[in-house]
Amino acid sequence: MEPATVVKTAAAFPLSDRVNRIAASATMMVVQAADQLKSKGVDVADFGAGEPDFPTPEHIKRACIRALEENRTKYTPVPGITQLRQAVCDWHKRELGSSYQSAECVVTVGGKQAIFNAVCALVNPGDEVVFAAPYWVSYPVIVKYAGGKPVIIETHAEDGFVMPAAEVERAITARTRIVIANSPSNPTGGVIPPSELRKILEVCQRHGVWLMTDECYSHFTYDDQEPYSVASVPDSKPGLIVIGSLSKTFAMTGWRIGYALAPQPLIAAMTKLQSQSTSNPTSIAQYAAMAAMTGPMDSVPVMLAEYARRRERIVRGLRAIAGVRCTAPAGAFYVFPDVSGRFHRELNSSAAVASQLLEREHVALVPGEGFGAPGFLRLSYATSMDRIEEGIRRMTRFFAQAK
Ligand code: PLP
Repeated sequence: MEPATVVKTAAAFPLSDRVNRIAASATMMVVQAADQLKSKGVDVADFGAGEPDFPTPEHIKRACIRALEENRTKYTPVPGITQLRQAVCDWHKRELGSSYQSAECVVTVGGKQAIFNAVCALVNPGDEVVFAAPYWVSYPVIVKYAGGKPVIIETHAEDGFVMPAAEVERAITARTRIVIANSPSNPTGGVIPPSELRKILEVCQRHGVWLMTDECYSHFTYDDQEPYSVASVPDSKPGLIVIGSLSKTFAMTGWRIGYALAPQPLIAAMTKLQSQSTSNPTSIAQYAAMAAMTGPMDSVPVMLAEYARRRERIVRGLRAIAGVRCTAPAGAFYVFPDVSGRFHRELNSSAAVASQLLEREHVALVPGEGFGAPGFLRLSYATSMDRIEEGIRRMTRFFAQAK
C-alpha cells in the first residue's frame, strides 16, 4: 500500500531568524488599512502616507518619456549613470554647499536603500548606532537587520525634538559605529539648528564615529530657515555620509531615486552590495533624476508655501482639541501631537486612538509607538486643505465623544 502523503503546514518551512527579527513598517500598515477602506468606497480622511500630493514636475516626466523613446532601457552602471552621479554632486554643491565628486556618490533605489546599504556596509554584529526618538520607523529595523544595536536618545516636544550634541556625546561608547541625524525629521518635523549639527559632527569626528545625515526633507523648512547640510563644513568629508532623496523634494516617491555622498571606499562598498541585490536603479528613472538635478527648482517653493499654509491650519485645529498638545513643526510635512492627555481606561494608547479613529471616523494616521513615541500620533499634511478641514472636524468630534 502507498504511504499516505503527509501534507506539511507552513510552519514546517520556517523563515530566517534575521527576517523574523524585523517588523513591517507601521506607516505602510496604516496606508494598507486606509487603502482597503477606500477600495470599499469609504471616504477616508487620510493623514497616513508621507508623500507629496503634488505631481512630479513636467520637465522631469518629459525627460523620462524621452529616455524611453530613445530606448534607454538597458542596465546602467551599478552606482548610477556617471553624468547623474556628477549632477547629484553639482546639485548638492549648488543647493547645500558641499564639494563631492562623482566617485563619492552612489545613486540608489530611494534614500531607503542608501541607508540600508550604508548601515550594512558599516555595522558588525553588536555594534551600536545612535539616533534620536521619535525616529523614522526604518532606522531601528535596518540597524537590527544588520546585527547592530539601536541606542536611542529621547528628544522632547518642548525642545522642538532637537537631538543635542551633548546627548550624542554621552551616548557614544567603544561599540558606536554610526550616529544618525535626521533633520528635518520624520516624524516630528524637528529641525536641528546648523550650529548644533556642526557640534554633532565635531563630536563624531573626535570619537571616530561615522555621522549619517538624512537630508530627505532638506528643502522643506519653514519660517525663512534656509536648507542646511553639515557637508558644507570644510573638512567634514571623512566619516560623513549624506543621505538624499528625490522623493519629497521633487514629488517623486514612486520613481525610487535616492543617493549617498560619502568617502570613496564606503561608496565602493555600498556599490558592491548594490551589485548583488538590485543592481542599478531603474534606467529611465535615472534620466528623469538627471532632469531634476539640472533643471529648474521652481516647484519647490510652490510646494513649500502650500505646506506652510496647511501646517498653520492643522496645528491650529489640533491645538483647539482639549487635552491635545501640538508643537508647530519647523520642517518636513508632519505634525506630531501628544494625545496622552486624552487617554483613559479604554482609550489607553496611541495605537488605540489611531485604530478607533480609523474605525469610527475613518481618519487614517500613524500611532506613535512605531516611532518610539507612545502617546503621540503622526499626521502627514501632504494632503489637500479640504481633507485637512474634514479630518480636523472628524477628530474634534471623536475627542468630544471620547470621554
Ligand atoms: N528618510 C526619511 C526620514 C524618510 O522619511 C524617508 C521616506 O519617507 C526616507 C528616508 C526614504 O525615502 P525614499 O526611499 O523614498 O527616498
